[in-house]
Amino acid sequence: MADSSVSPSPAVRPPHRIHMHAADNVAIVANDGGLKAGAAFADGLVLVDNVPQGHKVSLTDLAEGDAVVRYNVVIGYALKPIARGSWVHERLLQMPAARELEGLPIATVKPPAQPPLEGYTFEGYRNLDGSVGTRNILAITQTVQCVAGVVDFAVQRIKAELLPKYPNVDDVVGLSHSYGCGVAIDAPDAIIPIRTLRNISLNPNFGGEVMVISLGCEKLQPERLLPPGSIALVDERNVADIGETANAKLDVVCLQDDAHVGFMSMIDSIMRQAEEHLERLNARRRETVPASELVVGVQCGGSDAFSGVTANPAVGFCTDLLVRAGATVMFSEVTEVRDGIDQLTSRATTPEVADAMIREMAWYDAYLDRGRVDRSANTTPGNKKGGLSNIVEKAMGSIVKSGSAPISGVVSPGEKAKQKGLLYAATPASDFICGTLQLAAGMNLHVFTTGRGTPYGLAEVPVIKVATRSDLARRWHDLMDVNAGRIADGDATIEDVGWEMFRLMLDVASGRKKTWAEQWKLHNALVLFNPAPVT
Ligand code: CA
Repeated sequence: MADSSVSPSPAVRPPHRIHMHAADNVAIVANDGGLKAGAAFADGLVLVDNVPQGHKVSLTDLAEGDAVVRYNVVIGYALKPIARGSWVHERLLQMPAARELEGLPIATVKPPAQPPLEGYTFEGYRNLDGSVGTRNILAITQTVQCVAGVVDFAVQRIKAELLPKYPNVDDVVGLSHSYGCGVAIDAPDAIIPIRTLRNISLNPNFGGEVMVISLGCEKLQPERLLPPGSIALVDERNVADIGETANAKLDVVCLQDDAHVGFMSMIDSIMRQAEEHLERLNARRRETVPASELVVGVQCGGSDAFSGVTANPAVGFCTDLLVRAGATVMFSEVTEVRDGIDQLTSRATTPEVADAMIREMAWYDAYLDRGRVDRSANTTPGNKKGGLSNIVEKAMGSIVKSGSAPISGVVSPGEKAKQKGLLYAATPASDFICGTLQLAAGMNLHVFTTGRGTPYGLAEVPVIKVATRSDLARRWHDLMDVNAGRIADGDATIEDVGWEMFRLMLDVASGRKKTWAEQWKLHNALVLFNPAPVT
């Protein structure tokens, strides 16, 4: 297990604060448990208030209306005078307006080309379509929620009775979801949940073995979910296996089929089909592949003020390593990058990529507007308790996960990533929806940073969890895989933790190490993004 990074109990440290940029007029208190009024820093700054860990302290006297600057970005305006040494909490700040989507800098920043990182490999499962899996899983696709209970029942039987015969198969997973019927399936936005389900069933970790359970009367019919062209990968395999040139048929078990008499007939039918797929999956072997075959989805959840100081910058450093190694890295979470859109459009490789980012942001602005909220609806009570005053501050700490590489592509919600490099996958910030959409995009490894702590995990891909603070890493020693809190403690650099993550990714991708979420089988449900109406 990857818990070697957890520090022993902390010694009592002298008052310590973290200042992100020379232009910032606030810093955050780093000490576990925060600091009391009267605490004096080495440079003579004395706290006027008690300041909790991760919260901001003013480095200057601020007048009403003065800009409060962190990450060299205005995160708010003082609502009243704030004396040097005071606790700068959310109630003292007015949030700035969102950046307009007009007049943005387009592809203006040309980051210096970084030398390629060569020679790094992992052991993966090569698929017929060229993609590579990090796990070897039988996934059972479902057209509609109605069949979920039946599939669950069958999965339990498959795991108990069949899986022991196929030791090279890691798991059997029912891809249950809440879509498929009772929805306005012809609404334009219905394409998002439909293509999400389609692309998840083609995730590299499932080896191209698509089997579908359908009810029969549902709106999302199997042919609509997986039209012939979409499963070329499966067709090829079936053609090779059965020596036919005609289009192979989609493997569907339909519960309302006249042939089924009684529940056990359905279960037997699912198990019979499953066994065919298990046999083929079991014959697969890991092979050495370059690190460029990693498709890493990064996201954060349960963020605190340390997210943007420790874990996310370390992920950003690791993102740069992955991009240099030729891999694919997706960063997401629209509302958490919206306030930094100018940083992103300027890093786009081409005007087309910048335009695609602006298009996704505009679509999301309109989506939020329809619900009469804006991007500020993102922050949670826990974020605020952790020191993040508003979405602007949260976003600046979130964007750093993207590192410094040029942004070479944009993936719309539910679409599959079609290129390598650093990609912006437009997804909501909701942990489950973001993870679900990154799965659809073809993610084969997930990296998740957390400050407040979440036990998040997915059945479909390994999830590496990174703690922002040593206190969390100590308390959740058997849930957190990496402790980036050592950066705030002064025990490790951003580069150290970034490299540690990179090496851990290769180990986890190879199956040499399991993440804690895998160890405990912590599996969150797939949650589809359905912006279309239900009926
Ligand atoms: Ca999230």
